[in-house]
Amino acid sequence: MKAIITTPGQKGSVHLGEVGHPSGSGQVQDAAGKVTDPVEVEVVEVGVCGTDLEIANEGYGAPPAGREVLVMGHENLGRVAAVPKGSQLEVGQLVVATVRRPCPERCAPCANGQSDDCLTGNYTERGIKGRDGYMAERYLESEDYLIPLPSRLAKVGVLMEPSSIVEKGLMQAYGIQRHRFPWEPKKALICGAGAIGLLAALFLRLRDLDVYLVAKADADSRSAKVAKEIGAQLLDADQHPVAGLAKELGNLDLVFEATGVSAVAMAAIAATGHDGVCCLSSVTAGARTVTVDADALNLDMVLGNKLVFGTVNANRTHFEAAARMLGSAVRRWPGVVEEIISRRVPAESFQDAFQRQADDIKTVITFAGG
Ligand SMILES: [Zn+2]
Ligand SMILES: [Zn+2]
Repeated sequence: MKAIITTPGQKGSVHLGEVGHPSGSGQVQDAAGKVTDPVEVEVVEVGVCGTDLEIANEGYGAPPAGREVLVMGHENLGRVAAVPKGSQLEVGQLVVATVRRPCPERCAPCANGQSDDCLTGNYTERGIKGRDGYMAERYLESEDYLIPLPSRLAKVGVLMEPSSIVEKGLMQAYGIQRHRFPWEPKKALICGAGAIGLLAALFLRLRDLDVYLVAKADADSRSAKVAKEIGAQLLDADQHPVAGLAKELGNLDLVFEATGVSAVAMAAIAATGHDGVCCLSSVTAGARTVTVDADALNLDMVLGNKLVFGTVNANRTHFEAAARMLGSAVRRWPGVVEEIISRRVPAESFQDAFQRQADDIKTVITFAGG
């Protein structure tokens, strides 16, 4: 079958190639580590994100043990093609698979179904680290890692993986904050208006917050259109630098940082309001340094009872919550969530999907199953 393959560490090695059909390759491990019969899934579409571009262009990623090549892709949407005996899933049902698998040591979080919080770092990730991804015609997986989706999410289901990451951050922000004191957030700032930023805006508007998005985005961009339709206010980062936003907007109860720029992350921490929470989600793999006003930052965090935390990846609970949020968003703003998917490209033209174009938000590669 056809798959988009790369040799991690070898720039420019991404190509559409042939790999063995997964049916022949037998069994998979379930969440408890038991070898079990797999569900076979026909891939509908797979989103491309910064991580994929890093794997393709910067030598990030790792192939499965004993191999040189890796099937790419982690932001998946598929349809069940075959089920083992006793499965709760039905053939034809839409599903999305989680990405991370537990470490072999089964650290405490991994043993508890929370490999997103793995302590050893020896987890694997489909399409990223040590496991083939979903940019293929079909894949096999344990039912434990497959989340069924209602058919009304068919057009936006490929946004589930980034949605799960956003929803994990927000669930944790609410969970921690409400553990500290009665927290009734009113105002949120989101840094970045890419797919993650816009999904955060959607899910915070669903929670009835006043939402401000600060980003380098034109007023007539696709991101601006989405923001407007959901009642979020987009601020041009050149005219409204994050450092000045606390003064401009008043007390920010929640700040969600998703620009990929560490200097903005530092400013986001400083912009967080009294009794507020700052959720950092940018993976900044570079080595940039910035100067911060440490006395002021520390004093402000102490006197303001501020909380800052980082978040990465997501587990089944967050995927299930994200499916509910996406469902609510689709009902409340018909046609708007789809706008986040700016381009769909067939697998044969995958190179186009790996090339960023003006006004891209989320580019998606479609497979035969679509
Ligand atoms: Zn991604
Ligand atoms: Zn672990």
